[in-house]
Amino acid sequence: MTLDVAWAVDWVRRSAQTVTEHRQELIELDRQIGDGDHGENLFRGFSAVVAKLDALPAEPADIGEVLRLVATTLMSTVGGAAGPLYGTAYLRAAKATGVTQLDSHGVVALLEAALEGIVARGKATTGEKTMVDAWTPATEAAVTAADGGASPAEVLAAAADAAHEGAEATIPLVATKGRASYLGERSAGHLDPGARSTELILRAAAQAAA
Ligand code: ADP
Ligand code: MG
Repeated sequence: MTLDVAWAVDWVRRSAQTVTEHRQELIELDRQIGDGDHGENLFRGFSAVVAKLDALPAEPADIGEVLRLVATTLMSTVGGAAGPLYGTAYLRAAKATGVTQLDSHGVVALLEAALEGIVARGKATTGEKTMVDAWTPATEAAVTAADGGASPAEVLAAAADAAHEGAEATIPLVATKGRASYLGERSAGHLDPGARSTELILRAAAQAAA
């Protein structure tokens, strides 16, 4: 079993939908330890992506083309930290997946490239209370699942489950990167908004594959 361009398009549309549904929650999480714009940032970005998808004259040729569209659109429409971070993630993922079909190891390559992009851009490591704390366990779980013979859909479900655990585990952490780090010890006790949005986006990927 493999994932194709239709999966990538469905992932993007489901991402836009879940970001819209959770817009207020992401705003409130960011209000607690940031400036309250994360939900609005992602809503605006993914709405613009869907508008561009709708306006395409033909179905994108490969998965990389879909991910490149997401990357360039997020970079040009989303301000703050999340736009360049997610933009770089999708750009690296696009480079890793310029193909029409993804098997389980291809899914792992996509996730690994995205995480590498986020780390290259934001220079955060795990434990700093950022989206890296959701992406890292997600990628690790994906590797384990793929090595164990899981299907692409199962690999993505494992990644989304691990992203959920990783996001919840940011609650006690003190932020040392990004805007939340300005709060120092007072950032503890809150879920990181970028870790939560990562979980939502990876769940959308799994649901599109199911
Ligand atoms: P801003 O912080 O500029 O208002 P957003 O609110 O859209 O941008 O995004 C905040 C999220 O970005 C944080 O919750 C965190 O997950 C993520 N983030 C911030 N800085 C970094 C970084 N250096 N590396 C990885 N992720 C980061
Ligand atoms: Mg913010």
